[in-house]
Amino acid sequence: MEIERQKLRVHSSLEQPGSPEELRARQLKARDMLRGDLEGADLDAYVEERVMTTTLEKILNVARANSIFPATFGLACCAIEMMSTVSPRYDIARFGAEAFRASPRQADLIILSGRVSVKMAPVVRRIYDQMLEPKWAISMGACSSSGGMFANYAVVQGADKFMPVDVHVPGCPPRPEALMYGFNKLQRKIMGNPDPGWRTRYNATGTEEWARGGSGSKPSEEALDAYRKAREVLDA
Ligand code: SF4
Repeated sequence: MEIERQKLRVHSSLEQPGSPEELRARQLKARDMLRGDLEGADLDAYVEERVMTTTLEKILNVARANSIFPATFGLACCAIEMMSTVSPRYDIARFGAEAFRASPRQADLIILSGRVSVKMAPVVRRIYDQMLEPKWAISMGACSSSGGMFANYAVVQGADKFMPVDVHVPGCPPRPEALMYGFNKLQRKIMGNPDPGWRTRYNATGTEEWARGGSGSKPSEEALDAYRKAREVLDA
């Protein structure tokens, strides 16, 4: 039997990416590459198609964002929804965050899942302080974000009053999907590509921008005076 060897580019049909012929051409090219048979322009093209350059910082951030270890920690009813995210139905393992760690020293994310009582706040802060850098915090639910329905002296009216919070997830309780959406937002923040806020997205202007003379607004002198006076009172 006579075996005929052909140049691989004879096989490649870039008009039909994903076709069986193209797959076969790729397989043969990969085999030749491993054998050291590719050379010249073929080798250059092969390397150019497969090599990507980036910075160490970017690749570190991608690794960090996709291998987060949350602390095994729950505060109230929201924690039940948080636990559901590791179940097969929601499967937060898809984002590399299913390994909840029992020690804050091995965790880099704390999910404040529930109301934080004034008595509990120093404990939460201590757990957060015991986590190693870099670390992040998600405030899950209305209670930990703003006190929720518990507008009283026993509950902290927003966890960001005693520790930094990176993402707030609204809801009472937020469904596991909502927590995972917040988690995805955190991942984008870690990778240095945060989603813009709704004001940027919808080109919306609020009272502050209006008084400061932001885009498309024309504040009067009286409005600016009133704004300056209000700032003085607030800053005093
Ligand atoms: S937000 Fe709702 S579900 Fe979550 S801790 Fe508060 S009351 Fe419970």
